[in-house]
Amino acid sequence: MTQAAGWLGIRPDHQFGLAALPYGSYTAAHHAEVYRVGVAIGDSVLDLTTATDRLMPGRAHLFRSGSLDEFLAAGDGCWTQVRDDLTRWLSEDAFRSAIEDLLVPMQKVSLRLPFTVADYVDFYASEHHATNIGRIFRPDSEPLTPNWKHLPIGYHGRAGTVVVSGTPVRRPCGQRLLPGAAGPEYGPCTRLDFEAELGFVVGSHSHLGEPVSVGRFTEHAFGVCLVNDWSARDIQAWEYVPLGPFLGKSFATTVSPWVLPIAALEHARVRPPSRDTELLGYLTEAENWGLDINFEVRLNGYLIATPPYSSMYWSPAQMLAHMTVNGASLRSGDLYASGTVSGTEPGQLGSLIELGWNGTAPVTLPDGSARPWLQDGDELSITATAPGPGGTRIGLGTAMGCILPATPA
Ligand code: CA
Repeated sequence: MTQAAGWLGIRPDHQFGLAALPYGSYTAAHHAEVYRVGVAIGDSVLDLTTATDRLMPGRAHLFRSGSLDEFLAAGDGCWTQVRDDLTRWLSEDAFRSAIEDLLVPMQKVSLRLPFTVADYVDFYASEHHATNIGRIFRPDSEPLTPNWKHLPIGYHGRAGTVVVSGTPVRRPCGQRLLPGAAGPEYGPCTRLDFEAELGFVVGSHSHLGEPVSVGRFTEHAFGVCLVNDWSARDIQAWEYVPLGPFLGKSFATTVSPWVLPIAALEHARVRPPSRDTELLGYLTEAENWGLDINFEVRLNGYLIATPPYSSMYWSPAQMLAHMTVNGASLRSGDLYASGTVSGTEPGQLGSLIELGWNGTAPVTLPDGSARPWLQDGDELSITATAPGPGGTRIGLGTAMGCILPATPA
């Protein structure tokens, strides 16, 4: 497979070069009702729905709906073939005349939620994040709970409120116990937060009753996207005992519009951090699925954190194995997120609750304003890049959302 710049002449440092080729769903400005599957390439989007009609008629039905749903379900053999062919079309001169008119400038499209989210699970895979949260909420106990190094902790979230980047996020209202109050009250969230995470998109389903082993990760996981697990800390703190997150998380979860195939991350694979606890057999990995992905978090355009995904304790293959070890089946379109990505350094924390230590040391922005928590009107964006071939870097796009004021009761 050639990795040359090809006829498109994309500069080598572009986040969407030939080594990335992430998939999304879009509508063109003049055709807002017609959904198409697109591939990000340079500053353009290739209309893959029409390109497959012309060049790959046997697979064209997978892209006709304009969402990734059918392609996700088609399985890893199909994913590989389409990616190989795409690379040839976009790099070999022989295909230029067949698809050049299908490249649409990125600024002329509206990006949609790329697939129908089936089930949504959120993990808690960063030791540094879990330790920080433990120190904040349980200062008199061991920061990590006794189970933490034996299994990837997670909870089931709300698939129907996963929204694509750019969708405004309304400040939630809910029940919370304010400091010093005698009892709970209802009102707008006073401690709104973000969580920078990586999401894994499941392609091939599995059968009920059959666990998916760590070694079958690439058979089922299609790709990755960026995730912002918006969190209402006051609602969460009052409701989470004993069954875990509920309304403090389910009001909205933002994902990036581009799903980057796992195959694009071959140069990003690294050994996970060393583990000091022996794992049960089903969580023992032969392959390294640590991922060297650098996150950047911006609040109103100011860089406030650079969390490193390489520091994550649990790998995505282990999360997948754990999620199915009881026989729970996977559906095509399942999304599971890593949990907040936080590193060891003060500038590497992937949530405001950590950056501002639960509101006690608010983040100060370069414009002089302080942020113990997110304010109405704030814009929070998450971007990330990973190593590509030959010292280049590939991008995952952006997961962005603006905070709208709460709806008056
Ligand atoms: Ca989370």
